[in-house]
Amino acid sequence: MSASTNSLNLAWSIVLGLHFELQNAQVAEWDEDGEVTDEYWQRSQSTLGNALTLVQQGFELSLKSSIAAVNPYLLLSRDIRDWPASDKKDISFADFRTIDAADLVKLHNSICADQLEASFIELFDRVRRRRNQIIHLGKDKKAIAVVELIEMILSCVARLAPSIRWMKQRADYKNDDYLSVAYSNDHVTDVLCNEAEIVIDLLGASSLDKFFGFDKKARRYYCPECARNVEGDRYLTAHLKPNKPSSTDLFCIVCDEIHDVVRKKCVDEDCKSNVISADGVCLVCWEDQ
Ligand SMILES: [Zn+2]
Ligand SMILES: [Zn+2]
Repeated sequence: MSASTNSLNLAWSIVLGLHFELQNAQVAEWDEDGEVTDEYWQRSQSTLGNALTLVQQGFELSLKSSIAAVNPYLLLSRDIRDWPASDKKDISFADFRTIDAADLVKLHNSICADQLEASFIELFDRVRRRRNQIIHLGKDKKAIAVVELIEMILSCVARLAPSIRWMKQRADYKNDDYLSVAYSNDHVTDVLCNEAEIVIDLLGASSLDKFFGFDKKARRYYCPECARNVEGDRYLTAHLKPNKPSSTDLFCIVCDEIHDVVRKKCVDEDCKSNVISADGVCLVCWEDQ
């Protein structure tokens, strides 16, 4: 699964990175009719196209990994004429031609107990066809939307690698990437909080619930862990779970953890909060209690 997750992570970084740059340039503040924003996304199409090919690669590698878990030799092309020359000795598995992506679903459902359902097969085919358009014609007929790509990535992981907690593995990926080698990983929480904020903003309530267990309508608080670890501004990444007045559990989408909170009035007269971290910080105004 690691090669697949790597492709999906790269695609995710590209998509969220594009969104971050638009936000960082504060285009929305003066682009009243949205013309510049539209042009930005238009000119990002080739970059989004690259991200889509990585998403397709992620889907393909995930399926191959499930098939290989049953028997890796099933992935080899049936056609002997596609095989490497027979006079070579000790031919590496990687030198053999594997079956076409279009046949992967059929093979998967023929040999794996976990059958892929029609909606997922339709998604896989749509991603594969769009990728082929980009590879063979330079671009797809239909513009690629950011939300669509984010949902493709999350759907692939949710269906083919459900044990992966996306934001947790995102933290591992960022902590181990080349930027953390060059600069240290001090910036990682800031990046992840920003990604979470974009995702909360872009995805609909049902997708946020399905992929992250996050309630879009709930009032948001600072996470006692993530808000302490950021270098820049704090982000409101957590909500009470269940979202009830007596609830003492706070869920954060970034660290993907539940934190104990104390329900008592903040010492700041002007602050209306009654959600205080276990170590005594108000999770609305960040005042020590
Ligand atoms: Zn957190
Ligand atoms: Zn407060």
